[in-house]
Amino acid sequence: MIQKSLVLIKPDGVQRALVGEIIKRFENAGLKITGMKMVWIDADFSKKHYSAHVGKSFYPPTEQYITSGPVIAMVLEGIEAVHTVRKIVGSTEPKNSPPGTIRGDFAHMSMAYADGKKITIKNLIHASGTIEEAKKEIELWFKKDEIHGYKTVHEVHVL
Ligand code: ADP
Ligand code: MG
Repeated sequence: MIQKSLVLIKPDGVQRALVGEIIKRFENAGLKITGMKMVWIDADFSKKHYSAHVGKSFYPPTEQYITSGPVIAMVLEGIEAVHTVRKIVGSTEPKNSPPGTIRGDFAHMSMAYADGKKITIKNLIHASGTIEEAKKEIELWFKKDEIHGYKTVHEVHVL
């Protein structure tokens, strides 16, 4: 039941100075940061990260977006963390992300608008969609010795 999830604060989140605000939301929920770094990825790495989307019409602008500046990459750990992280993040389309979610509070773009303009949806953040995706993405982004085990105060009160 304890899972790890990969979270990226995308270049718009970094450039809009929302790093602290975003990390705070995961910490408040009791998720443990077990790995964290700033990385500026290139097109090859983007194709690995978005391997499921290469070839789709929205992939080229999405690659341009994710390689346009540094991202903050994090591994978050907690009870059913993959689901919990996605709940805090909201849905892919900010328009349909409820208030209280990161994408709902800090963006509002719709899929129809993005597709009409042939642009990517800038939604501030990436989060693994499934347990399998999380495992693959964490292996891609982090070396084993970049992930740390330690106790948080939440474990005293929550687990
Ligand atoms: P998520 O990031 O919520 O897991 P996906 O894995 O489906 O969403 O897509 C990866 C990223 O590609 C999205 O976060 C978004 O930036 C972009 N994207 C996805 N679908 C579209 C679309 N239809 N039009 C434009 N950009 C899109
Ligand atoms: Mg996805």
